[in-house]
Amino acid sequence: MDSKSKQKELQEIAQEIEKCQQCPLYKGANRGVPGEGNPDARIMFIGEGPGYHEDQRGIPFCGAAGKVLDELLALISLERKEVFIGNVTKHRPPGNRDPLPQEIEACRPWLDKQIEIIQPEIIVTLGRFSMAKFLPNAKISRVHGQPRSIEFRGRKMMIMPMYHPAAGLRRGEILEDLKTDFLKLGELLKSPPKPEPSREQLSLV
Ligand code: URA
Repeated sequence: MDSKSKQKELQEIAQEIEKCQQCPLYKGANRGVPGEGNPDARIMFIGEGPGYHEDQRGIPFCGAAGKVLDELLALISLERKEVFIGNVTKHRPPGNRDPLPQEIEACRPWLDKQIEIIQPEIIVTLGRFSMAKFLPNAKISRVHGQPRSIEFRGRKMMIMPMYHPAAGLRRGEILEDLKTDFLKLGELLKSPPKPEPSREQLSLV
C-alpha cells in the first residue's frame, strides 16, 4: 500500500474511533485519541490510554509523559513526525485509572488495523498494558529493552518492551533505564533485522 492510501485508511479509522461506542469509555471522554504519525513509520510506539491533556486535544502523549517521550526520541535523533504513536485504548479511562481488560479488548480491532496498515518493523510497547498485548507473560522489569521477534497476523516484527515514560517521571532509575533502552533502539534502527517474508508473500512464491 502506498503512503497516501495508508494515510487515507488511518484517517478513516480515526473517524470511526471518534464515533466508537464499543465500550463505556466514550461516555466519560471528551474525544477519541486515535494516534498519529508517519503512515510509513519504521517504529510504532504503543502506550496505555489517553490522559487529561490527550483527551482535551486528541493528540497522544501531549502531556508530561509526552514531554519525556519527546526527549527520549531526541536522544536518538528522532522526531514525532517520523514515528507513529498510539495507545491500547483510544478513549480516556476516567481519572486516568488503568484500562480494564474488556476495554482493551473492545479497542483491540482499532489498534490491530493500525498495525496492519503501518506495518512497522519495530513496535515499542510503553508500559505493561501494551506489552501484555504481545508478550502476555512477560515481566517488564526483566524484559525491558530486549527486542524480540514475534509474528503478528502472519508478519514478523520486533517487539521492544519499555517502561512507560510516566514511570520515568516518578522514578529516576526508570528514566535511566528508558534512556538506555532508547539508545538500544537507536542501534537497532541502524542495523535493522532482515525483513522476513509474510505468509502472503510466501504463498505467492
Ligand atoms: N499515557 C499514555 O499511555 N498514553 C498517552 O497518550 C498519554 C499518556
